[in-house]
Amino acid sequence: FAGQVTLDGPSGTGKSSVARAAATRLGAAYLDTGAMYRAATVAVLDAGVDPEDAEAVARVVAAARIEVGTTAATERVEVDGTDVAERIRGAEVTRNVSAVSAVPAVRRQLVDQQRDLVAAADAVVVEGRDIGTVVLPGATVKIYLTAAPEARAQRRAAQLGLTTPEEVAALAADLRRRDECDSSRADSPLRPAADAVVVDSTDLDREAVVDRVVDLALA
Ligand code: C5P
Repeated sequence: FAGQVTLDGPSGTGKSSVARAAATRLGAAYLDTGAMYRAATVAVLDAGVDPEDAEAVARVVAAARIEVGTTAATERVEVDGTDVAERIRGAEVTRNVSAVSAVPAVRRQLVDQQRDLVAAADAVVVEGRDIGTVVLPGATVKIYLTAAPEARAQRRAAQLGLTTPEEVAALAADLRRRDECDSSRADSPLRPAADAVVVDSTDLDREAVVDRVVDLALA
């Protein structure tokens, strides 16, 4: 395989694990753009600025060196040389990442960086929200992964080891809040590209979705 596969969609669809597995099977590089927005959020939190203060956020992120690896097997995420791979998955970052990623200057900076990283690879799977629509509108294969909200909340709960109905309901509420935030961005709303194939993973296991992605890439 040579070319670019974009995998967009909301959180809780299994997008990351599907993108990693598909990249491995295709022998392609892998770019997790959500990890870059999360790393930017770490920089903002560590600088002690209000994530809702767009000007301050833009200033902090412009000065931060955000580095991510592009191999599916190992995750490398650094801010100014410090490994933040674990921290970016924490609740504080998850709570604040939508506000940081809504700042247009932050998006411009990270989109430029994403295009540079992709240009260095012959074959790459890129996952995010706006990859097929904004970052790589000319990509070879575009996939938009969806799933019913309940299925997404259940999946997240299983990942985090949460089991009570209250915990699952809280996760569902957080997913809805992030969806709304991500969908209402004026410059890059969360929606499938016109030429994307929409794959609904509600009733599919991970392997079936990976098969579908690999088949589409090789078609
Ligand atoms: O995919 P993940 O859940 O790690 O993404 C975290 C957040 O980063 C999303 O909720 C969204 O606010 C932002 N994001 C984005 N554009 C992307 C990828 C992620 O705005 N391409």
